[in-house]
Amino acid sequence: MTDCIFCKIIAGEIPTSKVYEDEHVLAFLDISQVTPGHTLVVPKKHFRNMLEMDGAAVSQLFACIPNIARKIMTATAAKGMNIINNNEEIAGQTVFHTHIHLAPRYTEDDDLNVTFVAHEPDFPALAALAKKISKA
Ligand code: 5GP
Ligand code: ZN
Repeated sequence: MTDCIFCKIIAGEIPTSKVYEDEHVLAFLDISQVTPGHTLVVPKKHFRNMLEMDGAAVSQLFACIPNIARKIMTATAAKGMNIINNNEEIAGQTVFHTHIHLAPRYTEDDDLNVTFVAHEPDFPALAALAKKISKA
């Protein structure tokens, strides 16, 4: 896709800090490091986001993630890592080429807030929603 920034990075038209590359996948440092070592893993083929990918394409993308994640952990001596994928604007997606964020964590007092707010479970509502999703 010609106006996609990540396609331009993949094509070598825009410089980037590569950390991993294979036939199908490229990983590079996020230009805005939420924590040191914050990396984006992207498929070389353009997809808007994961909602338009099939299982095979997602498998190919995720197959390399444990290896890249461990390399980042080794290089940075981080204590943990969040692996995040945003789909569509409402979910925080700003670049519309599928990418997985690998964000190493060193302290809870950083700029990354991914805490889920706990709610009282409504079991009948959970059962109804699970049924609806499973039948969709
Ligand atoms: P999103 O908000 O879509 O999940 O994440 C997009 C990410 O892409 C952001 O964290 C942003 O900093 C990063 N980004 C945007 N433009 C560039 C770029 O030109 N180079 C690199 N390396 N990262 C970029
Ligand atoms: Zn693209």
